[in-house]
Formats: sequence, structure tokens, C-alpha cells
Amino acid sequence: MSWIEEAIRKIQADTQRSADTHLIKVELPNMTGIDLYLKDESTHPTGSLKHRLARSLFLYALCNGHILEGTPVIEASSGSTAVSEAYFARMIGVPFIAVMPASTARAKIAQVESYGGQCHFVDCPTQMHAAAVQLAQESAGYFMDQFRYAERATDWRGNNNIAESIYRQMSHEPHPVPAAIVMSAGTGGTSATLGRYIRYKGFNTQLVLVDPEHSVFYDAWRTGRRDLTIDRGSRIEGIGRPQVEESFQPQIVDHMIKVPDAASIAALRWLESLTGIRAGASTGTNLWGALQRAAEMKSKQERGSIVTLICDSGARYLDSYHNPEWVEQNIGDIDDYQTQLISMLEG
Ligand SMILES: *Cc1c(COP(=O)(O)O)cnc(C)c1O
Repeated sequence: MSWIEEAIRKIQADTQRSADTHLIKVELPNMTGIDLYLKDESTHPTGSLKHRLARSLFLYALCNGHILEGTPVIEASSGSTAVSEAYFARMIGVPFIAVMPASTARAKIAQVESYGGQCHFVDCPTQMHAAAVQLAQESAGYFMDQFRYAERATDWRGNNNIAESIYRQMSHEPHPVPAAIVMSAGTGGTSATLGRYIRYKGFNTQLVLVDPEHSVFYDAWRTGRRDLTIDRGSRIEGIGRPQVEESFQPQIVDHMIKVPDAASIAALRWLESLTGIRAGASTGTNLWGALQRAAEMKSKQERGSIVTLICDSGARYLDSYHNPEWVEQNIGDIDDYQTQLISMLEG
């Protein structure tokens, strides 16, 4: 067996050992006939939906002949992508280097290193891409480039991608075809897969994208412009970008909602108090959007189901999003949004 065949086999074996992620039904108070489901992507071996992306990107690069025995793999990521890619790099036995800002949380660095990855630091996030390109050149390595390739590395027609998995898990529910699937965008890869699958199968499901405060995706979708930029990063880890990344496909998206960061945190708290589930902040953004959609359906006396995602676990953010002092200082007051949720769901 050649090295590439062996590497692909190892990745497939990992998939085989993994169970599908749960689709959790949330009992919404005061929303008769509207069913909310959470696809729990925090249960992948590397703890987030980036496990799917990393697997897809490695298979894509291997099948394209970009990663050979000993090829160093480089990625620009300070987040979950670096962690998941480090895991797969070690699995197939290639070096992995994540380019990240020097300010990256110690815990994230430790996680990448625990999978045998190295971290290469730059002063500021805007330097990450160029540094990754240069590092790949100097080391005869391969730059994975998640923000470019995420949308095309995943098999959008099926192969148990996240969309196919959701629809299969929904098949015995009262409303098996969701009225809406709500998702946020980082690379935009997950939303591209969801949207393409919905169209390909002809499902009557609206793809709703939620966008945090400091991100250009919402305006890019609204105006069709791809040259928009802003000069600060998103406060909601994993989602929102200061530029329109190549992987973001706005034409696939049916509807977008801009979500205040404080509303995302309020939704996180609400989820924890209702279900005991402690999730990452992007899950709060997703949930806020899903609840807006539910309220709309209620006011129109519609019935149906809504699906959204738990993108990663709150265990990664005990010092930040799950620490009230940190939230107060870094996000601001969340009381208004908590009151809105209470009146929507309990009033
Ligand atoms: C990457 C990420 C997202 C967004 O997923 P994309 O497929 O990249 O758009 C949402 N939440 C978290 C925590 C992420 O890491």
C-alpha cells in the first residue's frame, strides 16, 4: 500500500470508530407546535465541528496529491481548526504548524501541542495568512488554507456530511423537514454544505445565517460586495470575519440575521439554565437566530421544526464567555436580551 493510500485509510478508520453526533430536541416553553433541535458537534473527538472540516481538508489535500509522506502541513488558525488539524496530522504522521497571534490563549496552544503540533506566532491577526504562505514556501510544506478551501473540501451531495446526517436524524420527527436551519459562518464551509444539500434534495427548508457584530458577512450578503473590510476582529470565537473570505458563499443563503454579541451570550445562559448544556459563544449566536425564527413562526401561527448547531463546548471558555465578570468587561450588559428571551419564551 502506498503512503497516501495508508494515510487515507487511517482517516477513514477514524470516521468508522466515531459515532454520529447527537441531534438534541429542546423543549421550548410557550412555543406549541414549534420544535427546536440542536445538532451537537461538540462531541467529535477533537471537540468541535472543525473535526469534520479538518477531516475533509486532509482527504482533499491527500487525494489532490498535495500532502505526501513527510510534507509539513501549515494552517492559519488560532482556534478549533488548528486543534482538529493537529489531530489528523499526527494520525497520518506529518508535521503540523499552526500560525497564530502571540495573544492566543495558553489553553489553545497547549491543545495543539498535545497533538504534536507546533505553533508559530505573529504579532497581529492580519499577518497570519502571509506568514502561513511564507512558512509553507520555506519548508516545502502545504498551506491548508481553511478560509479558501472549506466550502469545496466537503462532499456536499452526501457521504454523511452534516446536512445528510441532520435530515436522516429528523426522519422520524413530527416535522421531519425543518422550516429553517440556522447557522453562523466562520469559513462559511458548513453553511455552504447545508445550503447546497437543501437545494440538491429539493427540501423546503430556509437556510438562515446569523452573523455577530464585528463581521462583514451580513453586509456582503445584503449588497453582494466581496471587497468589504472592517478593522477589528469578531468577539465571538469561530465566527464573523473582517473580510469576505473566498470560502463564504452568500448566494446560497436565503436569509441573514445580525446578532448583537450580548444577545449571543444571553442565549448561551438561557440554554444552560433550560437544559444544563454549556456551549461555546457561537452556539449562542445560532440559538438567538433560531429563537427569533421560532417567534416569527409563532406570530404567524405556523408549525414546524428548526434545527441549529452546538458548534463547540463551553468547557473551552470557562474563563471568558462563562465568566460573568469577563462578559461584563468584554461584551457588556446582557440584561436586556435576557429579558427579551424571558418574555418571548415564558411570557
Ligand atoms: C468554525 C466555527 C464555526 C463556523 O463554521 P464554518 O463552517 O467555519 O463556517 C462556528 N463555531 C465555531 C466554534 C467554530 O469553530
